[in-house]
Amino acid sequence: MRYSQLMLPTLKEDPAEAEVISHRLMFRAGMIRKVAAGIYSFLPLGLRVIQKVERIIREEMNRAGAQEVLLPCVQPAELWMESHRWQEYGKDLLRIEDRHSRDYCFGPTHEEVITDIARREIRSYRQMPLNFYQIQTKFRDEIRPRFGVMRCREFIMKDAYSFDTDEVGLGKSYQKMYEAYTRIFTRCGLTFEVVEAETGLIGGTASHEFMVLAETGEETIVSCQSCNYAANIQKAEAKRTRLRARSAKKIINPLKKVETPDKKTVEEVTKFLKVMPEDLVKTLIFETEQGVVATLIQGDHEINESKLGNLLGCDEVKLASDDLVLEVTGAPKGYAGPIGLSVKVIGDYAVESMVNFVTGANEQDAHYINVNLGRDVKVDQFADLRMVKEGDLCPRCGKSLNFSRGIEVGHIFKLGTKYSKALRATYLDENGREREIVMGCYGIGVARTAAAAIEQYHDEDGIIWPMPIAPFQVIVVPVNSKIEALMETAEEIYRLLVNNAVEVLLDDRDSSPGVKFKDADLIGVPLRVTIGEKNLKKGLVEIRRRKNGETTVIEKDRIVEAISALIHEEVKGSLHA
Ligand code: ATP
Ligand code: MG
Repeated sequence: MRYSQLMLPTLKEDPAEAEVISHRLMFRAGMIRKVAAGIYSFLPLGLRVIQKVERIIREEMNRAGAQEVLLPCVQPAELWMESHRWQEYGKDLLRIEDRHSRDYCFGPTHEEVITDIARREIRSYRQMPLNFYQIQTKFRDEIRPRFGVMRCREFIMKDAYSFDTDEVGLGKSYQKMYEAYTRIFTRCGLTFEVVEAETGLIGGTASHEFMVLAETGEETIVSCQSCNYAANIQKAEAKRTRLRARSAKKIINPLKKVETPDKKTVEEVTKFLKVMPEDLVKTLIFETEQGVVATLIQGDHEINESKLGNLLGCDEVKLASDDLVLEVTGAPKGYAGPIGLSVKVIGDYAVESMVNFVTGANEQDAHYINVNLGRDVKVDQFADLRMVKEGDLCPRCGKSLNFSRGIEVGHIFKLGTKYSKALRATYLDENGREREIVMGCYGIGVARTAAAAIEQYHDEDGIIWPMPIAPFQVIVVPVNSKIEALMETAEEIYRLLVNNAVEVLLDDRDSSPGVKFKDADLIGVPLRVTIGEKNLKKGLVEIRRRKNGETTVIEKDRIVEAISALIHEEVKGSLHA
C-alpha cells in the first residue's frame, strides 16, 4: 500500500471527549471516526487491525472445531418473546418497527436466533456436539457509551454457541473455548488474565471473563498472589476470618440507646461515638422481587448487590428509597437498624462474629450501642454479601489478594438449558427420549480487543502494535521523496517485501522526514525501514523497531531476510509476552 493513496488522516489534536489513550490514539491515527454517540466508522487503517484480530479469531475457532455462520442483525420480536427477553432485556435492546407495524430488535446478542436454528435442525444426539460462531455487528443501546470503540453502541462481536447432549458435553465444549480464547488473546500479543465471573440468574455453572490488564480498565480483578484464584469484583470472595481478638473475649455488654443528633453516615456516627467503622453494622434496606429485605454489613465493608441478587434469585435489587426506608424502619435514612424490623434480615458472614456493635435505632437522631446477635437481633440468614477489599485474603489458600484493573475482551458462559427450555430446542437421546439441548455461549469484542491492545502498548509518540495485529508490519520511509535514488530504492524494497508477503506501507508522500517519522510512530507500525542518502551511498538502509527504538543498519540486499527474521521474532515474542 502507498501512503499517498491511503485514506490515513492522522491528527495532532486529541478529540475533546476522549477519556482514554486508546480512543485518542485510534482517532489521531486515522483508524476511526465518530458518526453518532457510540457509533463509529472504521477507516482503512482501523479496518486492517480489525481484520487482523478477526483472522486470528477465525483460525482458532476453526481449529477448535467451531463452524462459522452469519446470522441477521434484525431479529423478530416473537423470538425474544419466547425467551421472555423482549420484556426482560431493558433499554439496551434497540426495538424497531417495520412498515407493517411488526416489532423487531437489532440483535444485542444471538441466543434466540441460534436456538431457533438448533431446534429446527438438531434432531438426534448423533448431531452433537456442535459449535456455531459468527463475527457480526451488534447493537446495544448502552446508557453511557464511552472510551471510543471500547464501549460503544454498535460494535463487532465474535459470538459462538455450543450445543451438547448433557453437562459433561458442555464441560468439554466450554474447555475448548477456554483454550481457544487463551490462544486468541495470546496470539494477539496481549497480557491478560482469566477470571471467574458471575453466572447470575441464568444459573449456569461456570463463567469466565478474559481481562486485558490495563490501568484504564472498567473492571476490577481480584487475584491471589500464591494460587491461581482470580475473579472479577462482583464474584470475588474473601476468606472468612475468625473472630477478631477483641470480640473473642465475648463480654456481652447491656444494650443501650444513645443520641446521635444529625449523625447518619458510618463516618459521622463512628467519629461521634469514638468507635471504629468495623464496630458498626450498617443496615441497608433493599427493594427486590422477593419483597423488602434488610441486609447487615460491617461498617467498613461494602454491599455487593450482585451477590444479594443471586442469593435471592432476583434479576435486580434496588436500594430502598427514602420513603420506603421511613416506612420500613419508622425513621429517616441514616438511622436504620435491625432491632425490631419486621422484614427479612440477611447478615453478611463478617457480621456473624461481631459483638457489642453499633446500629441505627430506627429512630431519628439515635443509635444503639452494644448490640448483639441473638439477644437483640434475629438474623434470618447469613451469607456472603460483601465486596472483597484490599487486605482481604484468598478464599482458596488464605494468602493475600491482589487488586488490578482490566478490560473485559472475552466472556465464556455455560448457559445450560435456559434457552433450549424456553424455545423448546430438544433432541432424541440414545433411548429415543426427548431431552433439552445443553448450551454454552462465548463472546469476544473485536474492536475492544484492538483498543485494549493500544491501552497496553503505547508511548507518548503513539501506538506500538504487537506484530500479529499491526495494520502493517513494515513502513518504508525514503527520507526525501524528491531524491530519485532514494525513491528508487524505496520502491525496490517495497516491491521485494510485497513479493515476500510482508504487509508493507510505502511512505511515498512528499513530506519532511520529521512528519513521516512522527506519523509512522503514531500509527504504530512495528518496523520502519529508513532510506537516507548517507547510508544508501554505502548500499545500506536502516531498520528501526517501534517498540524499543532499536536501530540496525544493514546492506540493502539483505532487507527481506532481515525483515522476515524480525517479524518472526516479534510474532514469537508476543506469544510469550
Ligand atoms: P460489559 O460488561 O463490558 O458491558 P458484557 O458482559 O455486556 O460486557 P457480553 O455480553 O459478554 O459483554 O459480550 C461479549 C463481549 O462483547 C464482551 O466481552 C466485550 O468484549 C464485547 N462487548 C460487550 N459490550 C460491548 C460494547 N458496548 N462495546 C464494545 N464491545 C462490547
Ligand atoms: Mg454490557
